[in-house]
Amino acid sequence: MTAAIYLVKGREKSLLRKHPWVFSRGISKVEGEPALGETVDIFAHNGKWLAKGAYSPHSQIRARVWSFVKQPIDQTFFVERLKDALLLRQDIIERDGLTGFRLIAAESDGLPGITIDKYDNFLVCQLLSAGAEFHKQTLVSALLEVFPDHNIYERSDVSVRKKEGLSETTGVLHGELPPKSVVIEENGVKISVDIVNGHKTGFYLDQRDSRQQAIKYVKDKEVLNCFSYTGGFGLYALKGDAKRVINADVSQPALDTAKYNAELNQFDISKKRAVFLNADVFKLLREYRDQGTKFDVVIMDPPKFAESKAQLNGACRGYKDINMLAMQILNPGGTLLTYSCSGLMDQALFQKIIADAAVDAERQVKFVERFEQAADHPTDTAYPEGFYLKGFACKVL
Ligand code: SAH
Repeated sequence: MTAAIYLVKGREKSLLRKHPWVFSRGISKVEGEPALGETVDIFAHNGKWLAKGAYSPHSQIRARVWSFVKQPIDQTFFVERLKDALLLRQDIIERDGLTGFRLIAAESDGLPGITIDKYDNFLVCQLLSAGAEFHKQTLVSALLEVFPDHNIYERSDVSVRKKEGLSETTGVLHGELPPKSVVIEENGVKISVDIVNGHKTGFYLDQRDSRQQAIKYVKDKEVLNCFSYTGGFGLYALKGDAKRVINADVSQPALDTAKYNAELNQFDISKKRAVFLNADVFKLLREYRDQGTKFDVVIMDPPKFAESKAQLNGACRGYKDINMLAMQILNPGGTLLTYSCSGLMDQALFQKIIADAAVDAERQVKFVERFEQAADHPTDTAYPEGFYLKGFACKVL
């Protein structure tokens, strides 16, 4: 018999709105002895059946819903979810000419704790929840049913797995070990992805739409691309005929790939048109300011500063600092393209931080455009937490 959990009275409300999380304090009773990640039936206090979810005894999020209809959580279930995800991305894949995209965006695609990125014929899985881990082999079989002849690699080397009682793990789940360079294409730009050693699953697919939007600001401009990783925005800037692009990052392997990417696309990077600078952006911005070095466009795409609510205040200071410095090194009329991928910081707060940075920089700043995560990272109406990446184009006078 399937184990079951019963909710405290009133706690069914979010599930009735199809939000997929059950918190530990919302549970009044557990029936049976569900193992880590095992599927349980979820009932309201009055015995009304609500959903099927994965049990996670170590996490504050004690259960994550797989399905709000009575169905087995098996290969057929996963195949359906994968096909739905592919269907809702089909027009985007064609529109942007994608050979690399996010196939499954976890809760937003009805598969809590499961992220899957497709890079050419490699599928890269990041499994963050006990339920995802429990069904790993079924998921692999389902992936092979939908994507025959694909290789599957796991990049579950993320510390949040601890909260679910899981250790970090990476490795081949099916087929071949990814080579050092798997080349994908987006919007006509080729990008080399190192699946095994790169950040996350290898590449920041979520900034694709913003990279494309950045093109219109860069023609004949001096561009500083902060936190460049493997080139991302810098490659689009070269495509958009920037006069010069300085890519700055602390990761030398990322910078090496950035240079390789520029060559791969046959962009003209002679005469230092593209520079790949190993530097701490916080220090570099101060140096430029103190030297009086100016740019026409500054791109500011830092890593996540806030992992938890406790870190939010510190994160706000960090965002304000780098954005203030960016404004100070912009020529009058210059453009700041700035982003925050901290989900805990909402768009209104980020806008406030940019406003505070403008005060400290003593510059007049106008918001002219807003950005969000690329279209293959959708937000389900029932799960607003899925919206995490926001950005602004600002004109700085
Ligand atoms: N803009 C990129 C993604 C940036 S990810 C894209 O579109 O693909 C964040 C990057 O910040 C990582 O490459 C990381 O190496 C770099 N980083 C983190 N701290 C840094 C620091 N203090 N100075 C410079 N780079 C840093």
